[in-house]
Amino acid sequence: KDTIHRICSGQVVLSLSVAMKELVENSLDAGATIIDVHLKEYGSELLEVCDNGSGVLPANFESLTLKHYTSKIKEFNDLQYLETLGFRGEALSSLCALSDLVITTRHSSLDIATKITYDNNGKIVSTTPVAREKGTTVTLCKLFSSLPVRRKEFTKNLKKEFNKMCQMLYAYCLVSKGVKFTCSNTTDKGSKSTIVSTDGQNMVRENIINVFGPKQISTLIDIDLMPPNEEVLAEFGIKSSPDSSVPFSFEFLISSVIHGSGRRVADRQFYFINSRPCEPSKLMKIVNEIYKQFNSNEYPFVYLNVTTKSALIDVNITPDKRQVFIENEKLLLAVVKSSLLAAFKQFPS
Ligand code: ADP
Ligand code: MG
Repeated sequence: KDTIHRICSGQVVLSLSVAMKELVENSLDAGATIIDVHLKEYGSELLEVCDNGSGVLPANFESLTLKHYTSKIKEFNDLQYLETLGFRGEALSSLCALSDLVITTRHSSLDIATKITYDNNGKIVSTTPVAREKGTTVTLCKLFSSLPVRRKEFTKNLKKEFNKMCQMLYAYCLVSKGVKFTCSNTTDKGSKSTIVSTDGQNMVRENIINVFGPKQISTLIDIDLMPPNEEVLAEFGIKSSPDSSVPFSFEFLISSVIHGSGRRVADRQFYFINSRPCEPSKLMKIVNEIYKQFNSNEYPFVYLNVTTKSALIDVNITPDKRQVFIENEKLLLAVVKSSLLAAFKQFPS
């Protein structure tokens, strides 16, 4: 039974970036405004996420790591109206099975914190009272240590895994308005470096400056939403409906074509549906194709956060929730195309 759980857990938490993502999402769901991520040896020795969120009540210490324990949805119907990032109650239980998990937490209603150590089955090994501000710190030591083959593969590709994790973290830094992030790494030799540090602004542009520097921002234009005309609708095989209202809105920033600010690789593109980082492949393809019509051989910087009723999306199709099923996806593609074309025609290269 333990083995099965271990194998399944390896499918929930596929990589270092998924581990980080799950912990950061838990902090965001707990209402944190400060989130500090710390790594040792690029995450192979330790990954720690510390927040100033609501904390956990002692009555819940035992259930936290139970499979399918979640405080976030009570019935299946709630899935339609999902406001939180987590909802499956699989992350902590899986992380327990895959590494040594320690949680230090102080609930907002208490004035003492508790350090809880769990074993690989999610059972509490020890609890110790400690001093801490309100919030939660989750510490994972030696990720994948219970899956030797995976661990070997992970440490072999450490730099790549680490870079992927940084990309994922940048996405949260950009989209989480009013949340201050820091991320640092300490190497085996003891030298500490800051990977990113933001000051929790409410404007995406400010967050972009924090993460990528002021140069990046000078090239960005805002794309306004443009409802598609008959021609574009037809192109996507949509019969125009009498009700022409579009069930989407977005915040869309892209590097402008006149500044020729593209990059050789598409490593600065951030897509979100309802502020959830994701990889909507068709959307990404459209954006890059249109950009290339105006600016050959380069990729733009992209920040695109699509907002729609949560009932119209399904984030439950892959364990890492990166793939999203969007109702009316074709209409979304048509809207994005129209909006980009309208903007770029004003900025001929
Ligand atoms: P999910 O996020 O899908 O509910 P998780 O396994 O990620 O499941 O977390 C289990 C539960 O632990 C959450 O529902 C939440 O109640 C609690 N929890 C996890 N991380 C934190 C945190 N940083 N602050 C407060 N509560 C947390
Ligand atoms: Mg979660």
